[in-house]
Amino acid sequence: MKLLEVKGLSKNYLTKKQVICALENIDLVINENEFIVMVGPSGCGKSTILSIIGGLETKSNGEITFNKKDIKVGYMFQEDTLFPWLNVLDNCLLGLKISKSLNKENVEYVKHLLNKYGLSNFEKSYPRELSGGMRQRVALIRTLATKPDILLLDEPFSALDYQTRITVSNDVFKIIKEEKKTALMVTHDISEAVSIGDKVIVLSNRPSTVKNVYEIKMENKSTPSKNRSNEKFNYYYNLIWKDLDHYED
Ligand code: ADP
Ligand code: MG
Repeated sequence: MKLLEVKGLSKNYLTKKQVICALENIDLVINENEFIVMVGPSGCGKSTILSIIGGLETKSNGEITFNKKDIKVGYMFQEDTLFPWLNVLDNCLLGLKISKSLNKENVEYVKHLLNKYGLSNFEKSYPRELSGGMRQRVALIRTLATKPDILLLDEPFSALDYQTRITVSNDVFKIIKEEKKTALMVTHDISEAVSIGDKVIVLSNRPSTVKNVYEIKMENKSTPSKNRSNEKFNYYYNLIWKDLDHYED
């Protein structure tokens, strides 16, 4: 079922000196339980799309419609944004405290997620005591704590080294699928997009328009890391590479 539809979305940033046209006529549909990845070059307007969908930034034109009222949006960013002076549990409960929805049931839910995803022994640990991968898992659980209808992920793995990026994308993918969440992730990394996405939306250079949409169909589709060696992986990688204006001589 359709969760979100974006039609003709445009965004111009007005600065003192100029008008920056960031998005032009973006259309997209996100169905429930889908993991959509948008891939596009740096500066093309990826974060802008997420900010507008999340209501943090205004649009210049277009329509954004959700299938229900009071949709709850959860964010996850590149830098892990855990507070160093709070332990893991308190970091995870912070959003609930801020939105004044901290209750026994929510605390149990957070503890259940920490336990399920291998962090229950670290509830009282501080972010500096965890690996980068564990910190991103905590950041995701904090996002899930408020039970969002859709997760917006802004290049959540780009600050991590290559090895960690692969394992953390497996973890994040698994958690999002197991918790039956809908996700919209943006990245500039084609491999990441193809290995994780149910669908990949390719964006052009600024002003961003949708160049292509691919449903990633692989036989024996599996975890993001295993998908990287699927025989269809290179097929999609090459299509998207060409879409992004990289042509071989
Ligand atoms: P991406 O996330 O794909 O790297 P952004 O959405 O951050 O791209 O930015 C798209 C374009 O809009 C960039 O050229 C950027 O400089 C510009 N931009 C982003 N935010 C603002 C802002 N608040 N004011 C003016 N220009 C902005
Ligand atoms: Mg960005």
